[in-house]
Amino acid sequence: MSHDDLMNCIDEKDVSRVGNILNEASFSNKTNSLEYAIKSSDGESKQIRQIIDVDKNGITDEGRIFGIFQDISDLREAEKKVRTLSLFDNVTGLPNRRFFKRLLAQTIVSAKRHKRGFALLNINLDKFMRVNTTLGHDVGNELLIEVSQRLKENLLDADYLFEQEKVQLENGLLAHFGGDDFIILLNDIYSEDAAAKVAVRINKAFEKSFNISGQEIHMTTSIGIGIYPDDGTDTEEIIKKSGIALHNAKETGRNCYRFYTDAMNAISFQRLIMETGLRNALEREEFVLFYQPKVSLLDGKLDGAEALIRWKHPEMGIVPPNDFIPLAESMGLIESMTDWVVAEACRQLSAWDKDGLKLESVSVNITPASLMDKNINDYVSTQLEKTGVEASRLDFEITESIFMQDFDEIVPVLHGLKKMGASVSVDDFGTGYSSLSYLKRLPTSRLKIDQSFIRDLMHDKDDAIIVNAVISMAHNLGFDVIAEGVEDEGQLNYLREHHCDVVQGYYYSCPLSADDFFQWVKGYELQLSGVNPVLKNSAGF
Ligand code: C2E
Ligand code: MG
Ligand code: MG
Repeated sequence: MSHDDLMNCIDEKDVSRVGNILNEASFSNKTNSLEYAIKSSDGESKQIRQIIDVDKNGITDEGRIFGIFQDISDLREAEKKVRTLSLFDNVTGLPNRRFFKRLLAQTIVSAKRHKRGFALLNINLDKFMRVNTTLGHDVGNELLIEVSQRLKENLLDADYLFEQEKVQLENGLLAHFGGDDFIILLNDIYSEDAAAKVAVRINKAFEKSFNISGQEIHMTTSIGIGIYPDDGTDTEEIIKKSGIALHNAKETGRNCYRFYTDAMNAISFQRLIMETGLRNALEREEFVLFYQPKVSLLDGKLDGAEALIRWKHPEMGIVPPNDFIPLAESMGLIESMTDWVVAEACRQLSAWDKDGLKLESVSVNITPASLMDKNINDYVSTQLEKTGVEASRLDFEITESIFMQDFDEIVPVLHGLKKMGASVSVDDFGTGYSSLSYLKRLPTSRLKIDQSFIRDLMHDKDDAIIVNAVISMAHNLGFDVIAEGVEDEGQLNYLREHHCDVVQGYYYSCPLSADDFFQWVKGYELQLSGVNPVLKNSAGF
């Protein structure tokens, strides 16, 4: 093929480059290789690799060029595919995590050099899993495509953002981290205000529902924001911080945005340690039940005890329930934890029976999640059978907040427990709906006035009025009333005068280990048989 024939089929964009290389090659002795595009006779473009060898004629410096031509179009196409797959999300076509990190690293280098700031908006769709599980993955994927479109629209229309920023966003700084996680890098952002404006716009953009294959889907977003350089100076750190802020946005109610703060980091670190430990706490037998006495105001006799869980953490020591129960709930561990509490309370009752302490009843706190567990009733009756404890000696305390969630599903389970012979009390009464119509549907026998009303009972008129009202209302409905958090004699006398039935609180005793409780009861019974029916506990509360 003559030089001109060859040059004629080379794609215009490559002609001058190839011409130069061939020209140089004819004067050298080196084997060379080059790639270029040619147009085939049917007009199709092909990618060619040519190995060049030069045959010198020995007379002049010029030589004849030999070439091996190889059609590498398929290879290049495959390479492109691999690159696309490895750099872009295959559902939305947006840059994926890997590509984003690469772009972010470049942005950091440039931001460092030019002393610029930028913001990362870490976005997650709220309750997206529900769409996947109820409507299927295809609908889920379509929704993700629509979501990416909506995010793009809201960034490109950003009239008060810099022109340069728009270009960069177009160049791919909206990324899809996979699943329902998206991330946006906003360049040249120095103040929280500017980032907040974008976050607000995104939150708002989702107020309009999505229509996917005729289905109307409402979706909201939670956003965590990290600002460079304040919240991190390398890719991992800044992504992590925006993730922590996102987690916080989720925990504080979703459909909102949060900026990262150092306090969040401390919480998240603590959470990580707790999560790891909590997962193994059951099998490592690190949970323990403490017991707090309940005393009847009618005759001063012991009415029973409330079982309160503690976690004996190998390093942190005794961890109170409020520090790990919400975590156990969110980790799905609460059901097995409740099972353990029920089993342990039954075992302890039976052990005390053998040791000569016949306790009326033990109250066990139970969360809505545990009541949603279909097997809870069977489990309770198995434990009762196993330990020989009568069902009437078990009381289940459900907190009033359950009235707000899953009420219809919980009611039959509670009726099941009641049918078995156990009793049901409403805990923390006054902090939730305090709704009579709800109360009537429950097989309750007792209301427990929340300790927040008892605390200032003697100084706060409103609290005193509420306590009186709860007592008379409960009695009218045929319920007993127990007051928790009773710490001093003034509160005790007030409650007695106003016909409260039972009290529980530091005035008598704080929650005690099983052994200490046993000793406390022995001491209390001794004193009760003596002169003073109402006395302070030996622990000094
Ligand atoms: P709760 O069921 O309302 O328990 C009463 C809480 O008040 C207990 O805190 C108790 O130690 C504390 N308390 C008792 N008397 C006084 C007092 O005179 N003054 C003050 N200031 N506090 C007093 P605790 O043991 O830290 O438990 C906190 C909450 O954790 C419980 O509130 C209950 O909702 C939950 N909880 C405890 N054990 C369990 C359990 O085994 N399972 C479940 N699901 N929740 C539990
Ligand atoms: Mg309780
Ligand atoms: Mg309570």
